[in-house]
Amino acid sequence: MAMPGTRLEENAPGRYYVTSDCNGCGICFSYAVLSFMYSNDSSYYYIYQQPADEREEQDIRKAMEVCPMNCIKDDGVADLQMPSM
Ligand code: SF4
Repeated sequence: MAMPGTRLEENAPGRYYVTSDCNGCGICFSYAVLSFMYSNDSSYYYIYQQPADEREEQDIRKAMEVCPMNCIKDDGVADLQMPSM
């Protein structure tokens, strides 16, 4: 069992991640279906894919606001792979 508040191993590399405090409610998935995925036993969710554009990032941010466990985190390191201008 992971320590409370630790980053789950399944998270895709990047700035957003879910911690072991997740209760598996699935609310995040309903807000950002492209970014979250559930574990094999559906007991928790994790970041399946970092946001590919601003729309997906906004969806993750909405999920962060409504997450009842406050366990979706942002380490602040930008990971958007936008083409350089
Ligand atoms: S909304 Fe939060 S507590 Fe609920 S499944 Fe998503 S990350 Fe876990």
